[in-house]
Amino acid sequence: MSAATPRSTFYTASGMVPPTAWILVVTVLIPISAVAGMLYSAGIVHVPMVKLRWIGSVGLGWVIGMLAAKVCRIGKVRSPLFTFVTVIVGFLVAYYSAWGIHRALLVLGKVNAPNPVLFALQGFLPNEIASWMSVLFKNGNAEGITGLALIIVWLIECGAIAYFTKSTFATVWDDRPFCETCDQWNEPAESLLQLPVSPDDPSWQSVREGWLHSIRKLKIKENANETVALTLSSCPNCDRSHFLTASGIGWQTNAAGEATFVESKIFQYMSVTPAQITELKELGELLDEAYQELIEEPEDLDDSGVMQAND
Ligand SMILES: [Zn+2]
Repeated sequence: MSAATPRSTFYTASGMVPPTAWILVVTVLIPISAVAGMLYSAGIVHVPMVKLRWIGSVGLGWVIGMLAAKVCRIGKVRSPLFTFVTVIVGFLVAYYSAWGIHRALLVLGKVNAPNPVLFALQGFLPNEIASWMSVLFKNGNAEGITGLALIIVWLIECGAIAYFTKSTFATVWDDRPFCETCDQWNEPAESLLQLPVSPDDPSWQSVREGWLHSIRKLKIKENANETVALTLSSCPNCDRSHFLTASGIGWQTNAAGEATFVESKIFQYMSVTPAQITELKELGELLDEAYQELIEEPEDLDDSGVMQAND
């Protein structure tokens, strides 16, 4: 009989969405996004400068992205779909509110509205927003931009807010594993090892399949313009939730000779035992020593080679 085949298991989110998450979306995410959207609109109206639009869209994107990530983290959301929808909802509420308040902010002081509060609230109705948009389209906005050019400004603005929302969310929401046993998030991934090997080494295939000791078969590279970083995300309370990630990091030169920093995932969140972690740490020390010898030796050889040539 052949030895049992090790089977690697990778972290998969359980899909759980606790009621707390729903409550937080309704009581925290939606109201704050609405206020943030209206403040953004006020900033645009009162300081009508193109530059401010950029700062404003960065700020609004930051608020929504941060808020959505916090709500999902505190709400212990383990459903990628729910997380995605939370970001979208935050964005849409903010963007809609920015439009909703826009008419009141711009013209309330100039028109004789018998009931200013009602006039402001009516601005949030979809048909009112649509007719307000067509007024701006015909007559121009505060900067006097009209027609198609104005639509392009709106699209760029909307795209910029969406982009900054997404990038802030991606930074704050690090996609770390959740320990279902302890009902809590793992710690963020921390560096475990830095290996002077290529991310394209064929031995990674067998490591990915669960043969961790195949790391010993990886070929050490002398010119360390690419290395592999192993990171570990662990549950702070138990020994059952350890997940290993291997990413290739290095510099790649394109045809024009420009070097760009590249990071590639070899595998993400593979389940490992405490014994395997200890083994990896020991291996790291061994590889370090081997690497040190390897970079020292060729120099010695070179020196003696030169000496011989001189003789
Ligand atoms: Zn745990």
